[in-house]
Amino acid sequence: MTVDLEALYIDLHSHPELSFQETRTAGIAAAHLRELGLEVHEGVGVTGVIGVLRNGEGATVWLRADMDALPVTEQTGLGYASTATGVDPDGNTVGVMHACGHDMHVTAMIGAVERLIAERAQWGGTVVVVIQPAEEYGAGARAMLDDGVLDRFPRPDVVLGQHVTPLPAGTIGVRPGPQMSASDGIQVVLHGRGGHGSRPHSTIDPIVMAAATIMRLQTVVSREVDPRELAVVTVGSIHAGTKNNIIPADATLQLSLRYPDEQQRAKVMSRVERVIRAEAMASGAEREPDISTLHTLPATINDVDATGRVVAAFRAAFGEQAVVDPGLFTGSEDVSWFARDAGAPLVFWFWGGVDPQAYADAVANDSIDRDIPTNHSPYFAPVIHPTIEVGVTAMATAARAFLG
Ligand code: ZN
Ligand code: ZN
Repeated sequence: MTVDLEALYIDLHSHPELSFQETRTAGIAAAHLRELGLEVHEGVGVTGVIGVLRNGEGATVWLRADMDALPVTEQTGLGYASTATGVDPDGNTVGVMHACGHDMHVTAMIGAVERLIAERAQWGGTVVVVIQPAEEYGAGARAMLDDGVLDRFPRPDVVLGQHVTPLPAGTIGVRPGPQMSASDGIQVVLHGRGGHGSRPHSTIDPIVMAAATIMRLQTVVSREVDPRELAVVTVGSIHAGTKNNIIPADATLQLSLRYPDEQQRAKVMSRVERVIRAEAMASGAEREPDISTLHTLPATINDVDATGRVVAAFRAAFGEQAVVDPGLFTGSEDVSWFARDAGAPLVFWFWGGVDPQAYADAVANDSIDRDIPTNHSPYFAPVIHPTIEVGVTAMATAARAFLG
């Protein structure tokens, strides 16, 4: 009996779960893999699932899909839209939505495994299916590695992964070398001296310090990074104060930093830190700011040789026109940890989920940024067909490029 992938997708989409809480999703994925005859291990790295498919001599290929959803309240208006809520790590009840398409990743993975099993007489090797939790925290791959996946299961000769994205459905985007940025989330606590709003001279105002710091940080990319190179410095969160006439004692900023490689990372990091410390000094702060790391994600670098093999296989399967170089994405992923820790090549690609006509209209109207919802938008809604089919074929085709 074949798996009804559309029903699976709709079920996963309408039952999204937050990072490290993906017990229902994991259970469904595990049940399908077990039914397909794989050796299945659950609870790997909290909620992760590993499925092993042994098929004689050959390479060991890891196929990775992430499965967590986001604290976003869905606004797509689809019949199968999520109405789910969840509790985030701070204890807040939040709307939950598969706004990054990880439901599509799990669905395509189950279809790809089914395809590989149907074709098993034509290839040899071992497939390890990795259903990963908490990609959105940048923590799930690390959790599975800390749980010993490289020692407990056959080690990879290559790691493959894919992400649904706002390209036209039917299009695959992949490039050798840097594919996605490295990223760091950092938190900065600026220490001032609190007091009465009527007596600013008796205080060290952390709000003014924060404002100056934020504005000066805008010059890191515009004035200190080579215009031909990529870097992003975003201050995404600022918290200080409780009342109009109280100058608070400190201010907290959270930053998102992105760069294509380690070299650029070191440069941007040191400049950001210099600006933060110098602005505190300029404000007369009596205590150094506290700078801490919220998360660190490596750059997603596609192995040149392995990517060449996958691209050739994709061109044969989908046609020359369907496979494009999408450029370097400023988003980040934790899939690389698997390949880096294993010392194995990585190939990570994007596949389109947008209705091709809607995409063509948006191109004609020069309105892609406005009209095509991106991942993490409450309106993000891949078309079911042919997105599922392309995802299945892409994953199975890439795997076969190494399995024969
Ligand atoms: Zn995401
Ligand atoms: Zn994602």
